[in-house]
Amino acid sequence: MKIRQHPRMHGILIGDEVYCYPQHLYARVVETFPAAVCVKVAMLSINGHLELITSPQLWRADDIENLSVCRYCGTRENVRVDATTGVPFRVCTSCKPT
Ligand SMILES: [Zn+2]
Repeated sequence: MKIRQHPRMHGILIGDEVYCYPQHLYARVVETFPAAVCVKVAMLSINGHLELITSPQLWRADDIENLSVCRYCGTRENVRVDATTGVPFRVCTSCKPT
């Protein structure tokens, strides 16, 4: 059986920031798969003492949105953070001129 790539995975590269809707978290992609990404999530662990640990997680392509490209047209050029939402989505200057 041939593994088909999820359409959303086409534009996602290692190093991109992605947002995970069910978990309300965003993180940097460390590995890509046909229908999922592996990210490293930083979290505080209270294990006798406070410690910041990074834990790898698999996020499904259906649950994520790429934050490193324009959310409207998908370009990587001239993108900046759209501060109108709580999530740091990027928009490019041609989709949303100042
Ligand atoms: Zn755009």
